[in-house]
Amino acid sequence: MSLSHGRPYLAIPGPSAMPDRVLNAMHRAAPNIYEGELHALVASLWPDLRKVAGTKDHVALYIANGHGAWEAANANLFSRGDRALVLVTGRFGEGWAASARAMGVDVEVIDFGKSAPADPARLEQALRADGGHRIKAVLVTHVDTATSIRNDVAALRAAIDAAGHPALLAVDCIASLACDEYRMDEWGADVTVSASQKGLMTPPGLGFVWFSDRARDRCRGSDLRTPYWDWTTRSFGTEFWQHFCGTAPTHHLYGLRAALDMILEEGLPAVWARHDALARAVWTAFDHWGQGNPEIALNVTDPAHRGRSVTAARLGAPHATRLRDWTERHAGVTLGIGLGMAAPSDPAYHGFLRVAHMGHVNAHMTLGALAVIEAGLSALAIPHGAGALAAAASVVGAAAA
Ligand SMILES: *Cc1c(COP(=O)(O)O)cnc(C)c1O
Repeated sequence: MSLSHGRPYLAIPGPSAMPDRVLNAMHRAAPNIYEGELHALVASLWPDLRKVAGTKDHVALYIANGHGAWEAANANLFSRGDRALVLVTGRFGEGWAASARAMGVDVEVIDFGKSAPADPARLEQALRADGGHRIKAVLVTHVDTATSIRNDVAALRAAIDAAGHPALLAVDCIASLACDEYRMDEWGADVTVSASQKGLMTPPGLGFVWFSDRARDRCRGSDLRTPYWDWTTRSFGTEFWQHFCGTAPTHHLYGLRAALDMILEEGLPAVWARHDALARAVWTAFDHWGQGNPEIALNVTDPAHRGRSVTAARLGAPHATRLRDWTERHAGVTLGIGLGMAAPSDPAYHGFLRVAHMGHVNAHMTLGALAVIEAGLSALAIPHGAGALAAAASVVGAAAA
């Protein structure tokens, strides 16, 4: 028997659950793109987008997903042959490095593996070794969605400064923005990239690049920049169409407006605290399951280095795949695949999964997903420790109090 009929829950790390308020805002006739309401709506987005990223500087908006936002950042940051230093802590760091390399950037990678954050001391060392200051920018993911490692952006900036190196710091916040605390200006990031379909709760299709005055000045001559990707016209264009280099992504803009309203009505600190509490509920559940089965474990051992929007875990092959199939088929909860932990052709691939808790997610959704996981573990006779759900419920209860 299947118990999946009812509202399905896509608990994968993007696209995330879309609020009805966002979807309803998009359900309308095509607006006039030449004057009127849409122009006022777009003017209202800029200050709120700055607020969400914690910056007073500039933001460019693209009709693109996260890969497009990476290319937008690359195109503005670099000229062909410039050097980038990419700090890799999972599949998405690798992805950004690959996109820069394919565009003609000379990419140097420091790989910190799949379970530990980028080490600021190693960054400082690498920059000190770059006596000629060839490295133009350091690229890093805030939260790598594949491993759920969270990097300490302020500490990485401090390492760049300690090395006396002029490199810009560019941060991928696609999985973390409006989930995990992020303060672009205070933490010293020069460039931040994000996309609409994760913490920003809007369907895939909008990419964002925030950039500092310093980045703008240092990158004026970047020759990878083409008209479509140029952040100058996107941000400082004097005509409406220039913000989009053509037709505006009309309906996405209405959706984004509704999503930003929801985030700012709740308040960013409350949004971060909600994600923190739900993440801790997930972590404690896995810790308890793991006590009855050494194969079950969270990917990142130290909670201080975990992202609060997604949790990567191992269950031992092939149990992660069996469990994902079970939760979707029998209970209407879709969990995330393990990404970049093993090749899909490797049997070990079936030992990894991810649980998303990003964006439009509340206590009943997360506790429900955890209860469904426990039901699946029992139904599939996957050994697991007791007490996970009670522990997760106490985390939620304590946070609410
Ligand atoms: C999802 C994600 C991406 C890629 O975004 P797409 O929209 O799938 O292109 C890049 N970086 C991070 C950290 C992500 O979470």
